[in-house]
Amino acid sequence: MSSTAEPAPAADPPSAPAPAPGRPSAPGFGQDRLWTVDEHLADILAAVHPLDPIELQLPDAQGCLLVEDVTVPAALPPFDNSSMDGYAVRTADVAGATEEFPAVLTVVGDVAAGSGSLPEVGPGTTARIMTGAPLPPGAEAVVPVEWTDGGTGGGAATAMSPAGPGDRGAGGEVRIHRPVEARAHVRARGSDVRAGDLALAAGTVLGPPQIGLLAAIGRGRVRVRPRPRVVVISTGSELVQPGEPLGAGQIYDSNSFALTAAARDAGAIAYRVGAVTDDADTLRSTIEDQLIRADLIVTTGGVSVGAYDVVKEALSSVGDEDEAGAGIDFRKLAMQPGRPQGFGSIGPEHIPLLALPGNPVSCYVSFELFVRPAIRALMGLKDIHRPVVRATLAADRTLSSPAGRRQFLRGAYDAEAGTVTPVGGAGSHLVAALAHADALIVVPEESSEVGPGTEVEVVLIG
Ligand code: AMP
Ligand code: MG
Repeated sequence: MSSTAEPAPAADPPSAPAPAPGRPSAPGFGQDRLWTVDEHLADILAAVHPLDPIELQLPDAQGCLLVEDVTVPAALPPFDNSSMDGYAVRTADVAGATEEFPAVLTVVGDVAAGSGSLPEVGPGTTARIMTGAPLPPGAEAVVPVEWTDGGTGGGAATAMSPAGPGDRGAGGEVRIHRPVEARAHVRARGSDVRAGDLALAAGTVLGPPQIGLLAAIGRGRVRVRPRPRVVVISTGSELVQPGEPLGAGQIYDSNSFALTAAARDAGAIAYRVGAVTDDADTLRSTIEDQLIRADLIVTTGGVSVGAYDVVKEALSSVGDEDEAGAGIDFRKLAMQPGRPQGFGSIGPEHIPLLALPGNPVSCYVSFELFVRPAIRALMGLKDIHRPVVRATLAADRTLSSPAGRRQFLRGAYDAEAGTVTPVGGAGSHLVAALAHADALIVVPEESSEVGPGTEVEVVLIG
């Protein structure tokens, strides 16, 4: 999302004063003016700080930001080892070997991966060796089993079957058909990383290969910024949990499921609280109960101006509302969908809370625009925004957009063609269309229509 200066959105309702560009959140103005998407996001990001680092077990650190420089304690590989199944030899013993005149060596033992005691490879002898096994003393190179007759006699009569440690497999002979150079098929100690090297720098995001490297160098725990714990609460007396029968006038609660999934997808540990009825006291006590396990609270529904929009009522007196800086500001944004939004902090610890509108598409778009960046900021990530690209609108008609509002239409993006096609209409109840979209088409405030072939900004939501 661009954070450049916004054009002043048209007033809505007509009596609302035009916003001062770049003006920070001003308490008391919340009800009276329209805020731009960028202003609202800037206020959220100004209030959300990265969580304090903690030490986590490796599997729990996936996706987290590393806050320490990790140095390599001991070389990797820790010892010279074979990259092939074959025979560990002295190069002089196989010099000039051919199919016709093979070098015939006495097999003095087997070396499996994990072998602790190693046979000495002296002149005229060899040890059968498996991939990853330590190069035994005296050996200079490994001859792949394919360059041999596979060995005859003793325990090494058949090719590379697993063998025990020590000198099992000793006693036979092997014919080697080709010479090798010193160090051939040997992975040198420290050829991956050396002791003292920087394995990973602070600021690295731990993806699977980074987790793998940490494990390879023996790190079981690392200092990272933890995943934020995000509590998702939906509100609405009409809401029923999926799987239960629907009564008259009821609908399934989809928002809390979508938001929980989206929060997890953004990197959070998400807790879904079942839908709360439209009762301010119930909602208030539910939120208070959740404060203990939340780094961020997200509610949906109850933020417009209907008689049962209880989120505003409940959030005016949650937790310790006397704390300086605590409180939720409810605003109207110059966007569509998702005009009503609440943001602030609650409880003695000032846990940030975002109150999203209830319409499922408004709710999801609001998550993408405001909650996802907040989660990623809590994680300390630099890359908090979805990728934004430009694409040609592939529509069969001109689309209209409310003047003065930034509109986010659902779309299907075609990277190869560089086009985006609208999916479904602008209605904020169209969850099926949302489920078939992978992009948000942005129609800026100053445009009231956008025709086929127009270049538009597209947010890729995956
Ligand atoms: P509200 O913002 O509470 O007035 O809700 C606006 C619309 O969204 C109404 O049609 C609600 O029934 C619907 N809605 C609210 N919450 C949810 C939810 N959790 N899941 C699905 N639809 C919802
Ligand atoms: Mg409601």
